[in-house]
Parts: sequence; structure tokens; C-alpha cells
Amino acid sequence: MTSPHPGTPAGEQDDRFAPAVPAAPSRRSGADAERLLAGLNPQQRLAVTHSGGPLLVVAGAGSGKTRVLTRRIAYLLAAGRAQPGEILAITFTNKAAGEMKERVGELVGPRARAMWVSTFHSACVRILRDQAGVVGLSRSFSIYDSADSQRLITLAARELDLDPKRHPARGLAVAVSNLKNELITPEQATVQASNDVERTAAAVYAIYQRRLGEANAQDFDDLIMTTVRLLQDHPDVADHYRRRFRHVLVDEYQDTNHAQYMLVRELVGTTAERGDEGLPPGELCVVGDADQSIYAFRGANIRNINDFESDYPDATVVLLEQNYRSTQTILSAANAIIAHNPDRLVKNLWSAAGAGSPIVGYVADNEHDEAAFVAQEVDRLTDAGDASPGQVAVFYRTNAQSRVFEEVFIRVGLPYKVVGGVRFYERREVRDLLSYLRVLANPADTVSLRRILNVPRRGIGDRTESFVEAYAQQERVGFAEALRRIDEVPGIATRSATAVRGFVALLEELEGLIAEGVGPSRILELIMTRTGYIAELEETVNAGAAAGGVEAEGRIENLQELVGVAREYEERVEGGDVAGFLEQVALVADADQIPDPEEGGGGVVTLMTLHSAKGLEFPVVFLTGLEDGVFPHLRTLGDPTELAEERRLAYVGVTRARHRLYLTRASSRSSWGQLAYNPASRFLEEVPDQLMDWRRLAQPAIAAAAQRALERAGGDASWGDGPVRQYGRVTTGPVPKRGGVGLRPIPALAVGDKVSHDTFGVGVVASVLGQADKAQAEVEFGGDVGRKRLLLRYAPLEKL
Ligand code: ATP
Ligand code: MG
Repeated sequence: MTSPHPGTPAGEQDDRFAPAVPAAPSRRSGADAERLLAGLNPQQRLAVTHSGGPLLVVAGAGSGKTRVLTRRIAYLLAAGRAQPGEILAITFTNKAAGEMKERVGELVGPRARAMWVSTFHSACVRILRDQAGVVGLSRSFSIYDSADSQRLITLAARELDLDPKRHPARGLAVAVSNLKNELITPEQATVQASNDVERTAAAVYAIYQRRLGEANAQDFDDLIMTTVRLLQDHPDVADHYRRRFRHVLVDEYQDTNHAQYMLVRELVGTTAERGDEGLPPGELCVVGDADQSIYAFRGANIRNINDFESDYPDATVVLLEQNYRSTQTILSAANAIIAHNPDRLVKNLWSAAGAGSPIVGYVADNEHDEAAFVAQEVDRLTDAGDASPGQVAVFYRTNAQSRVFEEVFIRVGLPYKVVGGVRFYERREVRDLLSYLRVLANPADTVSLRRILNVPRRGIGDRTESFVEAYAQQERVGFAEALRRIDEVPGIATRSATAVRGFVALLEELEGLIAEGVGPSRILELIMTRTGYIAELEETVNAGAAAGGVEAEGRIENLQELVGVAREYEERVEGGDVAGFLEQVALVADADQIPDPEEGGGGVVTLMTLHSAKGLEFPVVFLTGLEDGVFPHLRTLGDPTELAEERRLAYVGVTRARHRLYLTRASSRSSWGQLAYNPASRFLEEVPDQLMDWRRLAQPAIAAAAQRALERAGGDASWGDGPVRQYGRVTTGPVPKRGGVGLRPIPALAVGDKVSHDTFGVGVVASVLGQADKAQAEVEFGGDVGRKRLLLRYAPLEKL
């Protein structure tokens, strides 16, 4: 189990700040300031010392943009141009935030805590907690993550009698999110809807938003949108924050969406707005790289960076051209790839680090062999003293690709850590317990309340739930209130009513303890024991492995870890309560858990998606799954705009590497029980051959198998003899008989064997039937999957 990194600043309590009078620079701070400029090139220096109008730093990867931002903050303080409380810095990773705080802490001591360094979301939460009354929220509002909001969307769609097949909740959630990112209200959405799809989305949006309000909850998009509204509709509040934040700094500006863009605008204020009040505009400094914009699917708009000069006519633009991160070989590969994108500003990025090692290319027969190569190579580098596991990162396009790497790494004993994926806070048991806390902090939170109503099972069924819901609607009271009046609700069986009364009494008792000041760790323990949650898991453990005992054990560990996180929080934050803990958790869960690449002696290999790699750097990088249909993603192949975004993602991936870069692909790959032969990624072809050292090429036998599969599928293919070949994508039927070229044989299984399935995960064999091609096994996967009967010839199953 990976341990969460509760690293956001959300838990900080100190909201006070020094008066907005800059201290006169002392002689000592003058010397400090000079020292901070050492080791910067002239353009970087310019950006760090710039004073006055808005500043835009645009530059390619690894040119020191983030470094400039960090140094600038330190410099402003050292030179006496700002107090910590006057600074708001927006970063995308906890790592960058940590670095900034550390540097400023060294400089000014505990006063550094008055500085806000956070993500957009954290900053908005802090503002909204302070101003909750103004926007009609209570201070203890809940923050819904994407899973919560999808549940609520489902309820809203049901209220409209929408067919879930035609209108899946996921799609509706995306549509609503897009509207919010454009700051469009439900009313506006209704008015401007011009077709059925848009009208449906608008209708769902309206109900969803009403229900969020009733639950005293905000989703992630709301956090930004509500804050923008707050600042726009309440000039006095806007004025308060403009006086406070004299310096606003934003990293990764290319990934801001419209709502975030407006937020920055509102916080800085225009000259006119500020001018009236005799307050000079705040100083804005944004840094970014249009070639690294990879969040268009969340509404990020490259135009925000491209239009900066027209939006802020008095802006100063600084360009950085020297890359300090990578070897020239790595940089040349990155430049060659991104050059294929149309309509971009051509940059002249160079490195003084020398050519370094060539880029290593490797074509594996399948994804298992690809992972085995990575593991072997990490071993080799470690033995040769060229790198430690902690300096290595493995990137892939989608979360699901991590599993094969995990399995192989476990088998060979290579320590690793997955960033993202099914994260700690997304695990069922953790969400269950947090839902209890949320209900205790915010009784109006209906989504959480209904989640735990019968968890663990206490005899409150769907029937009871729907009667209570009907009563609540009819009496126009909240769901929680209806539960409290269970004796008035018609149609409830005596046993169910007793169960509900017990549940309500327990919640009231816990609420009482919280009011008395009992902290979140103790409350969590009480929930686990008093509800029988732990007892139920323990029973499963005792029932043995076949009944899902292993998994239950893991769940108990996760809950213990959650209590640990709460305890840590209480130690860190004086007077930290349940609401504060929830706030921290909500934001950490959204942010990242990035380990420090150089940390410790050996360290562990980091596995992560390309999206979460933004802003980071590693001495050794493996960029895997370079296949058309995998990366670039299948969905994007026919769309030039989406393809351009995929290419920027490739650029981000390649430019994370400092000394060594590996580009790998698999000739065949099974996904969802299907075997696919994917051609080499076009990005691989875009890398000049003289930069590459091919360790292994595609094997002729695989090529022939792919060709046959393609012919069967009626496709058209060419299969040259270079390392990188143009080749039509084909998908065969179910995975053919094991034992073919590069494929796994039918596994010989016995009862009790541990196995891994591509889709269902790890399970235990409960029984085996039949022989040879007809061999079947019943496998217990536990959890939501349960027991499955599988035909071994076809199942993507492997013995562990
Ligand atoms: P990205 O676009 O990937 O976010 P970036 O432009 O933010 O990259 P940084 O992460 O700030 O770049 O810097 C890349 C690396 O170069 C870091 O290790 C940083 O410490 C180093 N670096 C930046 N400027 C200098 C400099 N003037 N001298 C030495 N090293 C530098
Ligand atoms: Mg950066």
C-alpha cells in the first residue's frame, strides 16, 4: 500500500497576515537578494527581478520556469518588496509547492506560513470557507470528487427519467463539467441549448446543481466557479483579496481553463478597478509552455497563454532558451516530435549538457516482455552504478497499463510505487469511512448519508430508503431529517425502523463527541468499531483466502492507515478538527503523491501516467507502450486536434528525462481479453534514427502473425524491415491458443493457486474442471467481482 502524501497547504490554520506595508530592505536582506540571483542566466534574472506590470515567461521544457517562480518569491521577500502574506502562488504539484515553502521558510522563518502556495482548488476552498456566508454555503460544506458527483448526476438523470443507456452518467458529468469550466450557469445553459443533447445536459445540470445546494456541497468545478462569482458579485470581497494578494504567481499557465483564467483576472484586478481605489494593480507573473498543454479535456485553453499580451496590454514577455535538464540528444528527440504539430510558435531550445547516451529503443513481443525488459534494464543500471531505482520513472498512457508492470516488478522483486491509479482515497473502505465523517460534519450531505445508510449492513434496505426519500420530498425536509422522523414515515417495517433509530442515535452520539472536541482519529476508530465495520472485515479474514480474506486484510490495513493520516493531521495542525481533516483529504485526493526522485539511498521505481508526470524530472525515463492505438490513444487517431494534444503529451514525457531515455513498444498487447497487434507509434517514427540505439527490433514471426490476423480481418498492411514500421492496426477475436509466438501457454492450475486476470485482478482458484482446450477454473476474485468461471484457453489469466 502506498502511503498518501498529505502535502497540500489546505490544513494550515494561520490565515492572518502582516499589514500590506513592505518592510524597508535591510542590508542583510539586500545581500540575501543578491545571493538569490546567483546561478541564473540573464533572462531568468530579468524575470526574477521584474517589477510592475504583468509578466509572462514562455519557454520550452526544463528551461527553469518553475525555478524562476520559486526564486522570484524568495527574491521579493529578501528585497523587501513583499510580505509572505501578500503572496499567492498557484502550482500544480505538491512537490513544487513544498519546494517554494521550504525556500521561503529558510528565508523568513515561520512567517512563511502566511504565504499561500497551493493549487487553484485549495486556494478557492480557503476563500470559500472564509466567505461561506456571502455565497450561501455553510462553512462546513462538503467537497464532492468526481465519483460523488457522478452518483449525484445519476440521481438527477433518474429524476428526469432519462434512459441510462442513451445518457450515461459519465457523459452527462463531462457535459456539466464543461459548462462549469466556461462559467455557464444552469439558466444560461438552458437558454443557449440548441439541440436535444444540449437541452438534456442543461436539464440535468439544473437538477444536479439544486441537489448540490441542498447537500451543502461543491464539486471541484464549483470551487472555482463559485469563487469567481463571489469576486464578481461582491466588489468589497474582491477588494479585500486584491489588497491582500499584491503578488499572484501561476505555474503551468498553459493548463488553465476559462474559469481559472477569470479567477486570476479577478484576483489581480485591472488597472481601472484598482485605480479607482488608489490601489495599484497586483503584480501578476505567469509561466508556461504552450507545447505542454495537455488538459484540453478539462477545458484548458492554450489561448490563455497565446493571448496573454492582448489581454494584458502592458505585459512584459520573457523567453528562456537554455534547457538545464536534459542532454542534447533527449532534447533533439523532443524538438523533433513537437515540430510535427501545426500552428505553433517555434522555440529555439538548446542544452549545454552534451550529447550524452543515445536513446534506447526496444520492441517487445508483448506487454509482459516489455515490462520484463524494463525490470532487467533497471537491474543492469543499478548493478553498473549508473542509476538507482529511485531515479527511474516508467510512464504509460493510461492507468490500466500499470498492472502488467506491477506484476512483473513484484515477481522479480523490484520495489516500485504507483502514482495515481486506484488511489488510496478512492478505495471503497476509505470512502465509506470518510462518508461517515462527512455526514457528521455536514448532515445535509445526502450523497454520503445514503452511501453509509446500510454500510455495514444493518437491515435498512432499498425499500426503506425509497420510502424515506418519498417522505422527505413530500414533507420538504432533508433526507437526514426524514430519517430522524422514521416513526412518521409510512410503510416502514418495525425491524427497519429500529435499525434506522439505532443508526440515527449513533450519528447523534458521534456528533456530540465532535462538539466536545474529540479529534478525527478517535472518531474514525469509534465509527469502525461501533458500526461493526471492522468486525465484518475480520470475519472475512478468518473465513480464509478463498472467501476474499486476503483482500479484507488489505482493507483493514488501509483503514489503519487512514487513522494514521488523521493522527498525523492532529499533530501537525493545532486544534485540527473533523471538518479541517476532511478538507485536507478532499484536496490531497485530487492532487498528487509524487515521490522525490533522489530521495533515500536506493529508492523505488516510480510508475505513473504521462499526465501526472508534468513538471517533474527523473534521471532515467522509460516511455512505454509507444503504439498507435495506445499512445497516441485510439480515440484520437482520426482527429488532428486531439492528435496534436497527444503529441504534446509525448513532448512532456520525453522532456522529463535528464540523462537516459528509453522508448519501448510491444508488437502485440491484450486488452479486455482481446489480442491487438498495434503498429509502432507515429511519435516513435518522428524521432531521428541517428539519435536511437535499437536494442531489439520487431521479430519476423510476430510480423507474420500480425499479417495473417490482418488478412483475416480484411485489412491492408505493409510490414517493412526497418525498426519502425507502418502497419495497420488489427484486433483479433479472443486471445488465440496459448503457446503461439510470444504468447503465454495455458496455465496448469490447482485449487488454492493465486492467479492474476487482466480485467478482474488477483484471485484464488476455487475449483478446476475439464482438460486441455476445455479446461476451466472457478476463481474467487473477491470484492465486487466475486467468483468467476473462466475458460482457461481464452481467459487472460496467469498463475502467480
Ligand atoms: P517544465 O517545462 O518541465 O515545467 P521548467 O521550465 O519549469 O520545466 P525547471 O523545472 O524550473 O524547468 O528547471 C529544470 C531543471 O533545470 C531543474 O533541475 C532546475 O533546477 C535546473 N535549472 C534551471 N535553471 C538553471 C540554471 N540557471 N542553472 C542551473 N540549473 C538550472
Ligand atoms: Mg516547471
